[in-house]
Parts: sequence; structure tokens; C-alpha cells
Amino acid sequence: MADNSKEAIELSNGVRMPRMGLGVFKVDPDDVRTVVYKALGMGYRLVDTAQAYGNERGVGDAIRASDVPRDQLFVTTKMMRNVGEKDAQADFERSLGELGLDYVDLCLVHMPFGDVYGTWRVLERELRRGRVRAIGVSNFDPVRLQDLISNAEVAPMVNQYQSNPYAPAEAVAGFCRMHGIAFQAWGPLGQGKSRLLSDPVLEGIAQAHGCSVAQAVLAWQLGRGIAVVAKSTHEERLRQNLEATRFSLTPEEMLTVSALAKPEEAGMLDNPAFVAHLCAGWHEDA
Ligand code: NDP
Repeated sequence: MADNSKEAIELSNGVRMPRMGLGVFKVDPDDVRTVVYKALGMGYRLVDTAQAYGNERGVGDAIRASDVPRDQLFVTTKMMRNVGEKDAQADFERSLGELGLDYVDLCLVHMPFGDVYGTWRVLERELRRGRVRAIGVSNFDPVRLQDLISNAEVAPMVNQYQSNPYAPAEAVAGFCRMHGIAFQAWGPLGQGKSRLLSDPVLEGIAQAHGCSVAQAVLAWQLGRGIAVVAKSTHEERLRQNLEATRFSLTPEEMLTVSALAKPEEAGMLDNPAFVAHLCAGWHEDA
């Protein structure tokens, strides 16, 4: 039976993935070194970057500058382009080079567009070679997941997907549970864009626990049994987010937060115009 705790999720191949991670989307390449270095000092052990973020080098610099042993860290990156196996192999090599690492802990197919299978074959091969410890996907809905499960040698171990109380993606999370795929929420705090962090219901729950709204939201996410990657560039918020593992919501509060889901706040992949834009751009050269 999988060994799951508040701190880590056991992936289908036995690799343990921290539940709470630091995301560095839109963190400037010049700032990322400081942010990641500080976060590792506070106790973060998972860092989520991507080829598309353009900051893998700074993440690698921070890892080398920190005194956390490599085998206690969990480093994720994501394959940006799905334009064929040869290019995917070159992209994977470039990521290891930028990060300055011999291996990454998790590598994801970032988007479900283009030659996903070419990219996946590279990841399967690198998994066998030990240069990646676990492989997965991101932004894959159940149809795309089922297709990959049915046609690949290795099933994805993780699906990183947009999820927050207004747009929880519960159907995707449920599919992942059924298939032994760890669901990892991106944008768990609503990306700071919506009114989520000033929602009066969440404010009430936060007050009852003496925590911030962000901590209450993260406690809800963790209470669902999923993993999260949250981003902040501010020290106090980084600390708060990491400490959210200390809080647990009551079963009633869990239901109350789940009832906040709003169809009009649907996620990125429910917006056809944005999906078309992403799909067109995803084939371009890096
Ligand atoms: P988040 O939901 O993590 O929200 C980040 C925003 O919330 C920022 O504006 C941040 O501001 C603010 N914030 C963070 N902590 C707090 C806090 N305690 N109190 C108040 N405000 C807070 O959104 P992201 O889009 O960054 O998602 C997290 C990570 O997920 C990314 O960094 C990336 O690694 C990954 N991701 C993956 C995607 C994919 O396609 N696979 C797509 C998008 C993201 P500030 O920095 O100023 O503190």
C-alpha cells in the first residue's frame, strides 16, 4: 500500500514526492536564485520549474549554493515543445545542462499538444537510464490521460493541473485517483488573480484557525489528498505557505470550501480561445 503522509505522496513507482512545493513561474531569472535559495533554507524540498520559464539556470545555481544534499531535494522541470523525439531529446539534455544536474526527480510533458508521444518516449528512455526518477504530464484532461495510459509503455505518475477552490478540477483529480496518478495542483492560490484570497467564507475559516487565507486554501488542498506547487517571491509568504501543512480543516470546513466552486471561474483549459492560442504557440521553436 502506498505510503502517503502530509509531507509526501508515494508515486506509482515508489518515488516519494513532497506534497508542498515551490513554483517559480514568472519569477525573473535574476531573482529566482535568491528566492529558491531562501526557500530551501526555510525547508522547501520541491522546486517546480520548466523550460518555458527560462529560469532553470538560476534554480540550479540556488541548489548548488544551498547546503541541502541533492538526494533530499525534489526538482521538477517540464518539456516545452512536442515537436518530435529528436528535438525532445535535445531539450531534455539542455534542461539538465541549464540546471547543472545529473538527473531531475520529475519531468513533465508541459502541454497536451503536438507530438506528445515523441516527448513521452524520450522520458520513458531517460527513466530507464536513471536521469529522471519519475515522469508525468501537465494539463492533461481524462481523455488525454486515458490515451497515454492505453498507448504508452509507462503510465504517467503525476498530472500537474490547475486547481483552486473556485475551479477545483475535481473530475480530473478523481480520474487521477482511480488510475494511481498523483494530482498536483498548479495555481493553488488562484494565481493571485481572482478574489479568492479575499473571499469572506475563506476569511472566516482562516480566522477560526488563526491562519492566513492562503494557508487555509493550502490546508484545503492538502486535505483533499493532493500535492501543490505554490509560488511567492516574498519571504513571509513563502514561510506561510510552507507552514500550511500544520493546519487541518474540519470535515465541515472541507465541504464548505469545496462548495465555493464556480462554473464561471473555470480553468485555463476551459477557455477555447486561450487553448487555441496555447496550441498554436506550443509548436514554435524554443
Ligand atoms: P499561485 O496560485 O501559486 O499564486 C501565486 C500568486 O499568489 C502570486 O501573485 C503570489 O504573490 C501570491 N501569493 C503567494 N503566496 C501568498 C500568500 N501566502 N498570501 C498572499 N498572496 C500569496 O500561482 P502560480 O501560477 O504561480 O502557480 C504556482 C506554480 O505552479 C507556478 O509557479 C509554477 O511552478 C506552476 N504552474 C504550472 C503551470 C503548468 O502549466 N503546468 C501553469 C502555471 C503555474 P507574490 O509572489 O507577490 O507573493
